[in-house]
Amino acid sequence: MSKTLVIIGGGPAGLMAAEVAIDAGLSVSVYEQMPSLGRKFLMAGRGGLNLSHSMASEPFMAQYGESGNWLRPMIEAFNPHALKTWSEGLGQPVFIGSSGRIFPESFKTSPLLRAWLRRLDEKGVSFHLKHRWLGWNEQGQLKFDHEGRDVVVQTDATVLALGGGSWAKLGSNGLWQEILQTNGVMVDPLEPSNMGFHVFWSEVLKERFAGQPIKNVDLKFEDQHSRGDLMITAEGIEGGAVYALSGTIRDSLVENKPVELLVDLRPDLDAESLQAKFEKLKKSLSLSNKLRRIGLSPPAIALLREQALASLSVGQLMALIKAVPLKITASQPIDRAISSAGGVRLDEVDENLMLKTVPSVFVAGEMLDWEAPTGGFLLQACFATGRKAGEGVVIFLA
Ligand SMILES: Cc1cc2nc3c(=O)[nH]c(=O)nc-3n(C[C@H](O)[C@H](O)[C@H](O)COP(=O)(O)OP(=O)(O)OC[C@H]3O[C@@H](n4cnc5c(N)ncnc54)[C@H](O)[C@@H]3O)c2cc1C
Repeated sequence: MSKTLVIIGGGPAGLMAAEVAIDAGLSVSVYEQMPSLGRKFLMAGRGGLNLSHSMASEPFMAQYGESGNWLRPMIEAFNPHALKTWSEGLGQPVFIGSSGRIFPESFKTSPLLRAWLRRLDEKGVSFHLKHRWLGWNEQGQLKFDHEGRDVVVQTDATVLALGGGSWAKLGSNGLWQEILQTNGVMVDPLEPSNMGFHVFWSEVLKERFAGQPIKNVDLKFEDQHSRGDLMITAEGIEGGAVYALSGTIRDSLVENKPVELLVDLRPDLDAESLQAKFEKLKKSLSLSNKLRRIGLSPPAIALLREQALASLSVGQLMALIKAVPLKITASQPIDRAISSAGGVRLDEVDENLMLKTVPSVFVAGEMLDWEAPTGGFLLQACFATGRKAGEGVVIFLA
């Protein structure tokens, strides 16, 4: 009889581990607490499923910060090219967008997930939905709650792929932290990552511009820059450019440091060129008209007008356009974040992702303590660690 593997968590990391293990001849069952699989993965495709990124290997790995060296062998073994081939194998060719990001041609998760689940089903993976993992009993068996009933499962190995702690309604609620901690596994608390921040806005800005982007700005926090769109929300700011700095900003807020973000509203022009353009305009034009003519959009002008402009010289106004200060008061809560930081500490698993304190139990995906910006780096690492955990189980059971 073939050895058994139970995978808990039916997101991209768990499904990838399932595929590797079934291909190696194990008997694989996936347990998932929600009534369907891959809910967060489906949500990830709502605005375009960004599977990975086409940038060169070194800058790619730098996106993972301190965990880059730890993730490197796994991402090199299952790199963006391998991910592309895998997606094509599911009938989902990919394309590289203008920003270098990799998307499936359908742009959505659903065709890819459907094809993947069909293939796993045909290979013999069994799926058990509405099974909420509760931990282990005294015999070391897995305990689940299935619609109010206790279910106990005996297995040769387990992969935990329970996700992080954002968007709890999609299933990944982080409740596994307590189970693992009581079993002696060190877990760093889950914190928001790739999230927006609170900024105090005037009523005018909030009412007229919440939900509107300011296109192509440069954001500066400490010595870090990020370029992209800044989305104004009723509570503050969001968007890719903000997410890229979110880890550093979050850490400063946690340390109670004052956080001021500088927004360059015209990053392609220096202050002198901007001033030359401004001074060529007719004196009779209103300030708003002049600002529009030097390339500021209505939400950008509104952002600038949150500052006291009346007594500024032209030079000071141009300098302000290049560095509008935004005082950040708080992070958005984890539930509204794209992903989470924290999780199972990386030194708690061996090189095959097996827990050192709970042998035969492997960990994959976002529940491990690495962090990355949006841009496809999250899914790439979830797939790569899912594969590694699946391979680790195969080695362990051999
Ligand atoms: C709005 C949004 C957009 C995103 N867009 C992108 C993107 O474009 N590109 C990108 O790279 N990343 C994106 N992400 C992030 C990406 O979706 C996640 O990083 C990824 O899904 C994590 O995969 P995972 O398999 O580790 O965990 P998950 O996908 O979170 O799956 C974990 C599974 O475990 C199950 N589970 C949890 N606890 C239990 C339990 N006790 N018992 C049983 N089952 C349990 C959950 O129900 C869930 O199905 C986005 C996320 C969000 C929220």
